[in-house]
Amino acid sequence: AEKKWEFMVRARIPAGRLTARQYLDLDDLAGRRANNTLRITTRQAIQFHGVIKDDLKAAIAEINRTMITTLGACGDVVRNVTAQPAPVRGPVNERLAADAKRISDRLLPHTQAYHEIWLDGERLDDGEPESEPLYGSTYLPRKFKIGLATPDDNSVDVLTNDLGIVALFDGDRLTGYNFAVGGGLGMTHNKPATYPRLASFIAFVEPDDLIPAVEAVVAVQRDYGDRTNRRHARLKYTIDERGLDWFKGEMERELGHPLEDPRPMPPFKVVDHLGWHPQGDGRWYLGLPVPSGRIQDAGPVTLRTGLREVVRSFEPALILMPTQDLILADIADGDREAIEAALRGHGVKLASDLLPVHRWSMACPALPTCGLALTEAERIRTPMIDAIAEVMARYGLAQERLSIRITGCPNGCARPYAGDIGLVGRMPGYFALYVGGDFEGTRLNWRLLDRVPENDVAETLAPLFAEFARTRNSGEGFGDFLYRLGLDRVTALVSKDAGA
Ligand code: SF4
Repeated sequence: AEKKWEFMVRARIPAGRLTARQYLDLDDLAGRRANNTLRITTRQAIQFHGVIKDDLKAAIAEINRTMITTLGACGDVVRNVTAQPAPVRGPVNERLAADAKRISDRLLPHTQAYHEIWLDGERLDDGEPESEPLYGSTYLPRKFKIGLATPDDNSVDVLTNDLGIVALFDGDRLTGYNFAVGGGLGMTHNKPATYPRLASFIAFVEPDDLIPAVEAVVAVQRDYGDRTNRRHARLKYTIDERGLDWFKGEMERELGHPLEDPRPMPPFKVVDHLGWHPQGDGRWYLGLPVPSGRIQDAGPVTLRTGLREVVRSFEPALILMPTQDLILADIADGDREAIEAALRGHGVKLASDLLPVHRWSMACPALPTCGLALTEAERIRTPMIDAIAEVMARYGLAQERLSIRITGCPNGCARPYAGDIGLVGRMPGYFALYVGGDFEGTRLNWRLLDRVPENDVAETLAPLFAEFARTRNSGEGFGDFLYRLGLDRVTALVSKDAGA
C-alpha cells in the first residue's frame, strides 16, 4: 500500500506570546488539518504533527492567516526567538518580549518561497530560496538560535543558544545587553568532533545597538560558518576554532565600532512560573503544566477541550513557555476559581497536584513522531519520572526540585545536557545518563554512563540520591552536589552499587 506521508508544520511565535483569538485559530487548525494535538516546543513555538500531504499548503496558508508565520520556524535561518515568559507587568518583561519580536521581525526571511517542511526527519524545500538582504542566496550554514533572558529568570536556558542575550537593568532602566555566543546542544554519539556547548560571554551592547549587534553576529556566522559539513556548521564550532577574540573583532568590524567587555551581572536564577502569580497590575497569571507540551484530549484528561473553553470564556493572553508549559495571563481575581474548576472538570492536573520532579521534567516527542529518534521519550516520561520519584522518596527527597530532561536522540531538543539529570536515547531501550549540570542552566552535565537500560535508570540513580541526602550542604542542588563531588567520585558511587 502507498505510504501516507505525514508532515510536521511549525509556527514561529516570538517569545511564545499569543492572543486568545490566535490560540483558538491554531486549536481549530489542529482539529481540521493535523492530528488533533498542538505541541508547545521548547522554543516557545507550536508544532502540528500528522498533517497529511494534501492538506499541507492549506495548513500553512491558514497558519499565516492567524498572523503567525511558519517562516523561519525551521531551516537554516534564525529560529523562533525565545524570551523569559513571565507576564509580570513592568518595563523588564515588556521590553524583553518586545525585543524578541523586533529581532524576530528583522531576521525573518523575506521570501515567501522559503517554507521548510519536515518529512520523517528529512527536510524538503517548498520552493527555491531567493536572495535575502541579510542571509544572501545561501541562507546560513545551519539553523541559528537566539534567546533573551535576565539574570533573574533564565527559564529559557539562554546559554544553549547560538546567541544568548542577557538584558541588564538598573531598577526599571535598561542599561544594555550582555551578549554570549556559541551555545548549542546537538551532538552525535561516537563523533567526538560534535559536542554540546554553552555560549560564552563576549561583549556588552548598548540598548540602541541591539539590532545591529544581533545582525553582526549573524553576518559573521553567515560568512565564516562551515558550509561543507552540516554536523560542523553551528556557530559553536566557528567560535571554538577561531577563538572568541577573533569573533569579537569581526563583530566590531561589521558594526564599525569597538565593543565593551561583558558587564558583571548577578548569578542566574530560574523562576517557578507554574501555579497562580500576581502580575503586578491587579490581574493574575496561571502557569499550567502541559506534559511534554502536548495539548490533547487523551482518556479522562481533556486538556485541549478544557483549554479551548477557558480561552473562549475568559479570553486570557497566552504565553508558551520554554519548559513546554503554558501561561494563561491577564486573568481577573474573580475569575480564578472558575478557571481552576473548569480545568479540573476536564481532568487537568494543576501545578499543586505535581511533585517538583514532575514539574521540572521535560521530554522531546521522540518515537513515534520524530524520524531521528532512537528511543522513546515523551511516552515513557511519566513512568520514568514516577520511578525516579519513588527512589527519591526513599531518601526523603520527594519535595526536592531538580530538572530531568529526556530525549530520544543526542540532538538535544529538550536540552538534556543543561539540566540536573539528562537522559539521552542511545539505542532502543537504552539511555546515556548525564548528571552534574545545574538547575540554573550555567553548566553542562557530564556523561556518567553510556548505556543504561530504560528500566534501570531510577535504581542507577539511587546511590547518588542516598549520598546527596546524607552529605549535601544546606540548600545545595542535586547537580551542584554531584559537581562538587567530581566525576570520579560520582562514578565510583554508581559502580560500587552495581557490584563492580
Ligand atoms: Fe527527535 Fe532527537 Fe529532537 Fe527528540 S531530541 S525530538 S528524538 S531530534
